[in-house]
Formats: sequence, C-alpha cells, structure tokens
Amino acid sequence: MPDLLWPVLALSELGTAEAVRFVRWQEVVQTDLSGKADRRFLAECLDGRLTSLDRLAAQVPEAKTVVRTRAHERGLLPESIARVLASYPFRPAEWLVDHEMTPPGREETDLLTRAIFDVLKDGHREAIIKCIFIWSAVQAGTFSTSAETIELLEPYPNDPNTRGMADSVVRAMWGAHKAMLVHEDESYFVNAIKWAKVFWGANSMTSRCVRRREFDLEALDIQQGGESLPTDPPSNGQAPRPTAVPEGGAHLRRLAMDLLSSYVEALETSPARLYDRERQEVHSGLVARAGRDVITALGAPDLWCMEHGAHIIRVLVEVRIYLQWMARQDPSIYRAYQEYGAGKAKLYARIMEELPQEAQRPDFKEAIKDLDRLSHNDEILDHRIVDTRDSFAEGKSIRSMAEECGLLNLYRQAYYMASGVAHSEWWSIETHAMEHCLNVLHGGHLIPSLSLSSGGNVELASSWVDQLYALIRISLRILGTDERAVQDAFAWLSAEADDGDPEGESTNDGRVDSTGPT
Ligand SMILES: [Zn+2]
Repeated sequence: MPDLLWPVLALSELGTAEAVRFVRWQEVVQTDLSGKADRRFLAECLDGRLTSLDRLAAQVPEAKTVVRTRAHERGLLPESIARVLASYPFRPAEWLVDHEMTPPGREETDLLTRAIFDVLKDGHREAIIKCIFIWSAVQAGTFSTSAETIELLEPYPNDPNTRGMADSVVRAMWGAHKAMLVHEDESYFVNAIKWAKVFWGANSMTSRCVRRREFDLEALDIQQGGESLPTDPPSNGQAPRPTAVPEGGAHLRRLAMDLLSSYVEALETSPARLYDRERQEVHSGLVARAGRDVITALGAPDLWCMEHGAHIIRVLVEVRIYLQWMARQDPSIYRAYQEYGAGKAKLYARIMEELPQEAQRPDFKEAIKDLDRLSHNDEILDHRIVDTRDSFAEGKSIRSMAEECGLLNLYRQAYYMASGVAHSEWWSIETHAMEHCLNVLHGGHLIPSLSLSSGGNVELASSWVDQLYALIRISLRILGTDERAVQDAFAWLSAEADDGDPEGESTNDGRVDSTGPT
C-alpha cells in the first residue's frame, strides 16, 4: 500500500472514476519517453508505484520532469496530495512533489486516513488501483493474456454487468504479476518494503493509537460491568473499583467454605487409618488446597472469568486426576507423592544457596532453613533423593494419568484450555488482553486493551463450587470414610437443597459414586 500511496490518495480526492487520468498520463509519458527505454520497462515503471518512478528516473533522468509535468497537467498532483506525500521522510520519488518535508497537520492526516480506509473497504477501488499496471502494459503493447480476459477487460470499468467479475480478475492478476516480478528479480520489491517500513514508522510517530472505547465513548457509558484502566497515570490516587459480588453469587463463598469444613469434619469424625496415614494426608491436603483456592477466588468476583480464573479450573481438575489416578496404583504411591515433594524442597533450597553469601540476608537464610525442614532430610546423613522428572509418577504426565483413569475428556475439555490461559498462549492473550488499534494509519496492529475483564461470571464461579463438591465426594469415597460420619457432616446440605444436585457432573470412574446428597 505505501508504494501505491499516490493513486490511493488521488482516487480518494478525485473519485474512483477519475482513474482514467492515470491512463491518459501513462499514454503521454510513454510517448514523451519512447525510444529512451525498453517498452516493457517503461510500461512497468508507470504502474503507480513510487519506487517504480525512481527506477525509471535512475535509467532515464529526464523522466523526472516529464512525469511530474504530465501529472500536473492531468490534475493528479493537487496541493492536498502533494502535502501528504511531502509529510514523509525518505520516500521514493521524492522529486514528484517540490515541497519541503513537513510533518502532517490535521488536514493531511484526515485525507490519508480517509484514503486508506476507503481503499480497504472498497474492493472496486482496490481493483482499479491494481489495474494501473495493466493499462500501462496495454498502451505499451506489451500486455498478453487469454482472449476471454481481454474481452472482459476491454469495457472495464465502464460495463456495470461485468465490472464485479473484472474486479476479481484484476485483483488476481495483480498477485500473479507480483509473483512473476519477484521470480525474475528477487530484490524487485526491496525498496518498496524499505519505504513501507518508513511509512508505518512515520505514522506511529505522527498519530496515536485509537481504542474502541475512545472511538465510541457513549457506548462505553452504557456498557455493563467492565472496568477500565486509566489511559493517563492516576492523578487522584484512586484505583478502579473491584467488581462487586454479583446477584446470585453472594452465597457461593460461604457454600464452598461449608463444603470444605464438612469434608474435614467427616474425615475427623470417622475412624482413620493412622497406621497408614499418607493416603489421608495426601487426600485431605490436595482437597484443602483446591478448596482454599476456590474460596479465595470466590471472595474476588474480578477473578470470575476465564482470563483471571483459569488457574482455579486447572487446580480442581488436576487434583481430581491425581486422586483418581493414585487410587488405581499401589498404596505406596501416596508416600512417593510426598517424597517427590520433599526432594523438590531440597532442590529449591540448594538452588537458593547458589546466591552469593553476601547477598543472603537473614530472612533469606530463614527461607532456606524452611525448605531444608520441608525436605525431611537428615542433617548428618543426606538421604533425600531429588527426582527432577516432571511429576511424582516417574515423570508421567497429567494427561497420561487422566487417560489411565478414564478422565481424558475432563482433561481435554476443562484442563487443557485453562492451561493454555495459565501458560500465556497467544490466543488467550489476544482475546483477553489485546484489541485492534482502530487507527488505519497504523495498519491494524494489536495493542494492549485498557478495559479490564468484567469478571463476575456467576455460572463459572458456581461450576468451581460444583467441581469442589465432586472432588470432596470422590475423596471421601476413595478413602472409604465412614458413611455415617459423611452423612452427619453434610446433613445441612440435604436439608437446605432440594433445588437440584450441586455436583453438576457425574464421574465416569465406576468405583466412585458421586451421586449428590439431594
Ligand atoms: Zn496503533
């Protein structure tokens, strides 16, 4: 586009139908310069590109005057266009206008914006601009194509019946022609690309990014929820308000807390296998960890959305896969799980010790001591093995675990995508954190969105509680916790809920009865 800036501006100022002026200009320039250069070369140089004009002037110095004079005669270089062209530094065919380089004012920027916007939206104008090289070749007698195409192009663009078809053919030929030029000379467009970089670079200096919310401030006012970051640094020290707890979601945090305490209560009022404690420790630890995450997230409705709440789903699914997979292994797996973690604690302590002694402040040393304690190692005999494989299960991936215990669908449908969000995969950033700059002079780049996710998705938050409850029932079932203790601990739930099963999803692991208590 930047290389075709002249016709893009001219057709915006004069109207698409005035493209005929370029045809007349080509005709007279070709006559003036006939014999000075090869006919095909001359025709190619009059394709409307600025770099082509430079290519011509390099070989035929007097072309500068001819091209410029004839363009003025045809009204192709009105003052408004000349001023826009002259607002760019390092442009090809600088000699086309005799203005000093001057930064663009409001008028120049408006014309440029309108011209680019129109050519982007108007496929016919695009085709007309892409036809300029064809008209030049036809007049030079160097154009060859099939009989049908010639028949189609002959009345173009004046026959309304064939115009649409001809537009498409012209646009297709333009691409093929470009490919041919590159095939003949790999560096054919080097200068055009260099100029395009200058063009977009200059635009980024002379005009600002435009966000949708600036584009339509009124729409923003009626938009529900959705907080925005200030565009300028805050002057009054006020931060945007956090999302309020939405209606229908107020009870969720309390519910999750009650579920988790009932879980603990059921475990503690049930006979425990204290001789074989690792299993219950791992279960209750993992469920509590997931529950605490859910409860904390439920206290902050800003997190009730995919962008900021993906880690909650991940934890819930991960813990469920761990528990169901471990249930199928030899019971020593629970101990292995704990030892894998102890080994990691030792590893982290050693890594922290790599910091130079002088940088190790007292609280830092304290942290290393904590990790050493968590590695459950002996101070004299170092027996703790550090397993650096990816997981506690000899490096087995969470996906393989899910597959082995029949949770592959849960993994694929709930964990996989949430994982993508957590790992900053580009699609997630693009949809959650970015928006298109609406300044056409910036070429449609993506810029950070200043609108925050509105959060407050009650359905999402409820699904976390459902998943937590499912996890709790699965854990109690695997542990074989005393039926009576479970019933008593969750009695409040069956008493208050007769509006449906809060669990949402039934497990596909046959050994686990996940029927809700309703
Ligand atoms: Zn921009």
